[in-house]
Amino acid sequence: DSSPPTRNSPIADKLLDGLLAFGFDEASSSCLSRFESYLYQKASSPHKPSSYLISKLRKYEDLHKLCGPHTSLYNITMAELTRTSTRKHGASTSTMCSYIVWTPANGLGNRMVSMASAFLYALLTDRVLMVEFGSDMDGLFCEPFPNSSWRLPSDFPLSELEKHIETYQKMVNKDRENSSSSRHISSPLVLHLNLQHSSEDPEKFFHCDHSQALLHEVPMLILRSDQYFVPSLFLTPSFRQELSKMFPEKDTVFHHLGRYLFLPSNEIWGKICRFYQAYMEKADERIGLQIRVFSPDRTPNEVIMDQILRCTLKNKVLPDLGTRDDSLTTNSSLKNQTLKSVLVTSLHSYYGENLRTMYLTKPTVSGEIVGVFQPSHEENQKFNDNRHNMRALIEIYLLSLCDVLVTSSVSSFGYVAQSLGALKPWVLHKLLDKNIPDPPCVLDFSIEPCFHSPPKHDCLGKPMDHDGKDFPYARPCVDFDFGMKML
Ligand code: GDP
Repeated sequence: DSSPPTRNSPIADKLLDGLLAFGFDEASSSCLSRFESYLYQKASSPHKPSSYLISKLRKYEDLHKLCGPHTSLYNITMAELTRTSTRKHGASTSTMCSYIVWTPANGLGNRMVSMASAFLYALLTDRVLMVEFGSDMDGLFCEPFPNSSWRLPSDFPLSELEKHIETYQKMVNKDRENSSSSRHISSPLVLHLNLQHSSEDPEKFFHCDHSQALLHEVPMLILRSDQYFVPSLFLTPSFRQELSKMFPEKDTVFHHLGRYLFLPSNEIWGKICRFYQAYMEKADERIGLQIRVFSPDRTPNEVIMDQILRCTLKNKVLPDLGTRDDSLTTNSSLKNQTLKSVLVTSLHSYYGENLRTMYLTKPTVSGEIVGVFQPSHEENQKFNDNRHNMRALIEIYLLSLCDVLVTSSVSSFGYVAQSLGALKPWVLHKLLDKNIPDPPCVLDFSIEPCFHSPPKHDCLGKPMDHDGKDFPYARPCVDFDFGMKML
């Protein structure tokens, strides 16, 4: 049956209320997570994708099929782009296909939040998203769009295009210089759009309609970003209405787009399912602890462990230990015993081992049984390492399947897990030294990732008030004062 699934039908359940593309063949088993992920996610997600978002996704899939890699329109566009360097204002390529190429920067969490932002930008601007995956990203995700690929073809003529590529900043500056003489600048055909986080950057004015009008003229954008820049799209007047229709609940952007885009490949999915079945499925409650240590020299393991315990015990995320140091239990406590499964993810083995020993050495006051599991400890963040990224994805996904999350400040690894799972986490305050702040953690107000480099100025250059009306749908992040996130 190729008819679109309607809400509340079994196929709609399977496809996450119509969010996932239905033009895939279940029997081919090429992407099992597409048809099985609903079995593992909390039964009734309170967050349903709007019908407008669903229709935008279906339209996008058609566009991608028409203009995507190696279609005849793609081939024509590439030929035109490599032939000419600039064009007159208002002219366009003959195919009307325009593109945004996502390029990788930083770790997997950073990559996933910037890819989701790039995809939303593509939806808003009718661009086709292509992703440049090196071999370190091989075999992580299924293809999200039916009958097409989102991967940048290996024969993409970047070196030929590079000759006449311009930067976004240069284009904006040139436009400003010319605006006094009211001359039109000629638009480049290919543009480097750098939205990466850096403290010295000048204001980018990416959230301004005027900049978007300039970008509209450019058929090929090459994006470099490690940021979740969705909040700046909500600031852009010309996008705001469309975004409100797509996301009536504004704090669910990554929850929906992330579940749509990032379906784990069969290899990853098999590992996720087996781990879940072995260590998490039978538990009465699943607790995820994501422990990211940014400066191990200044913040010893013991201090961080102390912070985690203070946070989790105080907020009743983990049960307290009794005073007896034996493992004797009375008969009555054997009955109706609840099992808590604690998933620890960290680069360091210390945390999982410590917590496991703790709950094996002494019984809990409540009589609850606590099992502690840490799937890996890679010791360091590694780059250009495919297996390392696979482990990261498995753990991000497993965290998203928990009922309660505790995450580390300013970590996009944790952001992705919380948003996929629609969980407001307890966020451990960032430690600067050996002093643990009081309180040690805070409950987040939103499931969205934090945007670490929001604009500081409005489109006229006036400083923006981050607490007030200048950001109508966002608030400063609990883990990073300068950052903003949707609520
Ligand atoms: P961020 O740096 O914390 O914002 O998160 P990123 O995901 O962008 O980069 C950190 C990278 O380090 C991850 O992608 C992983 O490769 C690795 N990493 C960090 N924490 C963990 C962890 O708990 N488990 C695993 N397997 N890898 C981790």
